[in-house]
Amino acid sequence: NAHIDAIERLDGQLNSFITRTPDRAREGAKAADAALAKGEGGNLCGIPLGIKDLFCTNGVRTTAASKILGNFVPPYESTVTANLLKDGAVFLGKLNLDEFAMGSANLTSAFGPVENPWKRKDSDAKLVPGGSSGGSAAAVAAGLVLGATGTDTGGSIRQPAAFTGIAGIKPTYGRCSRFGTIAFASSLDQAGPMARNLQDCAILLESMAGFDPRDSTSVDTPVPNYEAALKRGVKGLRVGIPKEYHVDGMPAEIEALWQQGMTWLRDAGAEIVEVSLPHTKYGLPTYYIAALAEASSNLARYDGVRFGERVSAPSLDGLYEASRAAGFGEEVKRRILIGTHVLSSGYYDAYYLRAQKVRTLIQQDFLKAFENVDVLLTPTAPSGAFARDEKPTDPVQMYLNDVFTVPASMAGVPALSVPAGLDARGVPLGLQLIGKFFDEETLIAAGHAIE
Ligand code: GLN
Repeated sequence: NAHIDAIERLDGQLNSFITRTPDRAREGAKAADAALAKGEGGNLCGIPLGIKDLFCTNGVRTTAASKILGNFVPPYESTVTANLLKDGAVFLGKLNLDEFAMGSANLTSAFGPVENPWKRKDSDAKLVPGGSSGGSAAAVAAGLVLGATGTDTGGSIRQPAAFTGIAGIKPTYGRCSRFGTIAFASSLDQAGPMARNLQDCAILLESMAGFDPRDSTSVDTPVPNYEAALKRGVKGLRVGIPKEYHVDGMPAEIEALWQQGMTWLRDAGAEIVEVSLPHTKYGLPTYYIAALAEASSNLARYDGVRFGERVSAPSLDGLYEASRAAGFGEEVKRRILIGTHVLSSGYYDAYYLRAQKVRTLIQQDFLKAFENVDVLLTPTAPSGAFARDEKPTDPVQMYLNDVFTVPASMAGVPALSVPAGLDARGVPLGLQLIGKFFDEETLIAAGHAIE
C-alpha cells in the first residue's frame, strides 16, 4: 500500500508508469501474506516490482511505448516475468520506456517523457532519466518500486541506472530468456534487473535467469547463487582498464571518477592493469548498423492487420502504409529506414555484412583481454543526466551516449553499472564493469567493492 500510495503521489510528475495495476498488486500481496502465513512463499514473496513495458504480461496491456500496438493485451506471460511471479513477486504496473527501446533519454515514448527524480543543485531543470529503461530507473530511484526489469540492447539498463544513481545488470546474452519480450534487435536484446543496490539486483537476476526451450538463444547452464558472490571480495582480482575508453572530449570529472574507481578496487586488494580493445572505435557505427538492420526486420510484423493500430485505406499496401505512418514515432521510422537501407541489395555487403565482421573483431578484443584480466572497469556514460531541453538536436549526437555500453553488447559479454558518486552539479554518475561470458558473479563482487 505504501508503494501504491507513492505512485499515486509522485508519478503524475515522473510519468514512469504507462499502466498501473494496483488491484492486481493488492491481490498479489494478499496471496503473498497467505503463503507466508503457511510458511511458504518464494524468494521474492510479496516484493513490489515494476515491469518495463516491453515484457508481455498476461492480461495486462503491453505497449512498447508505441501507438502501433494500440491497446494490445497479451494472452501470455514472458518467461522473465513468469519466473518473477513464480517466486512470489507482486507487479505494480508497466513502466515507461523509449518507443521499442530505441533511445538514450526516454524522450521517444508515445506516452510522454519520463522525468529523472534527481535535480541539479543549482537549477530546477527537468533532467532525463536515461534510456531506454528510463521508467524502470526513475521508478526505482524514486522508491516507487523495490526493483524493476529492464532490457539492454546497447546500454538501456546500464546508462539509465547511472543517470538515476541505481544499480543495473546486463547479463550475458542468453542468460535470460527473450521469450515474450518485444524484440528490438534479437541478437543483442537481453533482460536484466535494476534496483537500488547490487544485492537486490543479484536476488532479482537469480529469479529472472535460466534456460528456456522457447528461446533458441537461451543457454542451458546452471544459474549461480548471485547473492553469495557479494561476499567474495576482490583480493587478487585483475581489473583491466581499456585504454581506448579515454575518448576525446570526455569531461574531466568522468575521468576523475574512473580514477577513483581504480583506487577503490586497488585499496580492496585488486590489481589494476592497462589493456587494449583496439576495435572500440567501431563499436558505435557497427551497432547502429546491426541493431537497426534487425529492428527493421523485427518491426515488419506491425502492419495494422494482425493487431494494434489500423488505419483503413482502399488497398492492402495503403493500409500497411497508413497504419505504419500513424503508429510509429519519428525515431522508430528513422531506424526502420536506415535498417532497411543497410539490408537492401547493393548495400548489404558494404554495410550489414561488414558490420557483422567487425562485430566479430570487437568480440575477439574482449576474449583476448580476458586472457589477462578478470574484469574491465570503465565509466558507464560520457556524462551525467542532461536536461530535457539540452537534448541534442542531431540524432547521431544522441547515439554518442552509448559509446561505453555498446561494445559489451556487441560482444555479448555481461556488464553492470553501479552508482559511484555525484558530479559537480550533484547528479549521479555510474561506473561500468564488464566481465567474461557467464561470469556475472565476478562483476557483482567487483561492483560491490565500489557501491
Ligand atoms: N540507446 C541505445 C539505442 O538507442 C540502446 C538502446 C537499448 O539498449 N535498448 O539503441
